[in-house]
Amino acid sequence: MSETTTAAAGISTADKDQALVNSTMENAHSAFQLYRRMAAKDRALFLETIGKEIDKIREQLVAVAGRETHLPAARLNGEINRTIGQANLFASLIREGSWVEAAIDTEDPGRTPPKPDTRKMLVPVGPVVVFGASNFPFAFSTAGGDTVSALAAGSTVVIKGHSAHAETSGLVFGAIQKAIEASGMPPMTVQHLLGSGRTVGIALVVHPYTTAVGFTGSFAGGKALLEAAQKREVPIPVHAEMSSINPVVFFPDTLEKNAAALAKSYAGSITLGMGQFCTNPGVLLGVKSAALDSFLTLLSAEIAAVEPAKMLHKGICEAYTEGLSSMLGQKGLTIVGQAAKTAGDMEARPVVASVPAAVFLKNPHLSEEVFGPFSLCVICDDRQQLGEVLKSFKGQLTTTIMGTPDDVRGNMDIIDLQQQLAGRVILNNVPTGVEVNASMVHGGPWPATTDGRFTSVGTSAIQRWVRPVCFQNFLDEMLPAEAEECKSAGDLEGG
Ligand code: NAP
Repeated sequence: MSETTTAAAGISTADKDQALVNSTMENAHSAFQLYRRMAAKDRALFLETIGKEIDKIREQLVAVAGRETHLPAARLNGEINRTIGQANLFASLIREGSWVEAAIDTEDPGRTPPKPDTRKMLVPVGPVVVFGASNFPFAFSTAGGDTVSALAAGSTVVIKGHSAHAETSGLVFGAIQKAIEASGMPPMTVQHLLGSGRTVGIALVVHPYTTAVGFTGSFAGGKALLEAAQKREVPIPVHAEMSSINPVVFFPDTLEKNAAALAKSYAGSITLGMGQFCTNPGVLLGVKSAALDSFLTLLSAEIAAVEPAKMLHKGICEAYTEGLSSMLGQKGLTIVGQAAKTAGDMEARPVVASVPAAVFLKNPHLSEEVFGPFSLCVICDDRQQLGEVLKSFKGQLTTTIMGTPDDVRGNMDIIDLQQQLAGRVILNNVPTGVEVNASMVHGGPWPATTDGRFTSVGTSAIQRWVRPVCFQNFLDEMLPAEAEECKSAGDLEGG
């Protein structure tokens, strides 16, 4: 919001933006009073209709998002499939119903003191503000996982669209509006605002009617929203997924046996989507050996063959160029390999560098995220130093073990350290690629996210937008359907 004043109206832009935020949140609050009472089967139908409406304009979405984000059509189509799949997954979850975690303890008037009838279930928190992510214009944006999980819970949603794909965001919002109309939901169940994060975004976070926030993006952005939320008179949760370098440990036996295949798959993972994934393998770890040297030589050849490509937006490209140059300027770093072609306008040049663990341990800058196709190989003297490096990391979204069964058996202490580090621990896969299902965890201790108890991907993502309520001695007709059904089923007694 700039402080300019429109001469005609005599109202500053800041005042106009604040007025828009106020009316948006008032609408979201009023709509919540209706939407939270909608039957789960109707909300499920609404979610499925969002998917269908998105599918109807798929061609247009791919064309516009391709122009705005430079992502290829195949990737965008895959992401649209995932977005529709997520909406359908949450529809199935709420139709089935057990996600509300209903629990019942029946009354016992004869007990001293008399035992009351108590039953607990999860209820929606209220209006949720969702910040669209630049690196997933569909799956983590306007109708992405944050939005559909909040709608599934029964919360209304206000989207702060990402300016890097504003037109795409507007088109997806149009599809949501059609779904609202077709399924008879309150018109303001979902609203969409564009504008600066520092002004419109913060105004949404601090508005008294906002009850929770979902965000995917930079550490600085997520932390700014969290701090704003904590300064409110009534603090609210900010579920921000921020930065992660996703350490991968390469054990000796697999390096001996599979160096060529490992180099190929990791060159692919480091440069997938020009490295613009939060699960990008930003740091590779190994104990020094001839096998590690051969792996790095093979990795260098694979990276040299990758064509630089355009990044999502100018800001991300500039951040990559600056981050890379700052990283490569650090003492003790050696370039292992880089794309043979130099980068053109808005393009990223993939680079892999290496550093001795002793240098890495002394320089915290080396464990900062460089968002893009860059990875740093930390070469350890021995297993003990490998453990020290793992202990030095902050919280991560993922950590990966690349090892044969013999490697795994001989390194359980190292693997145990990895389990304490991240929300997802992977054996013999690349970290890029996240399944959307009930067992997925896309989260992790700070600073990977603001709250490591939650996930932003998979059905458990709904838990970010609910709170438990206990109904004590309620008459049947006063109970929400889920808690009443629980009573008649009588199968959760003692919960
Ligand atoms: P971003 O800068 O964090 O922006 C994401 C959203 O947050 C945008 O809507 C932005 O508003 C808003 N925002 C940013 N800073 C804010 C602040 N201080 N106060 C209030 N709102 C704020 O992320 P991005 O544009 O997607 O990419 C920038 C950098 O983020 C990348 O270079 C990369 O380092 C990192 N990134 C990391 C991940 C990850 O998953 N780890 C994903 C994407 C990006 P505006 O529209 O006004 O900018």
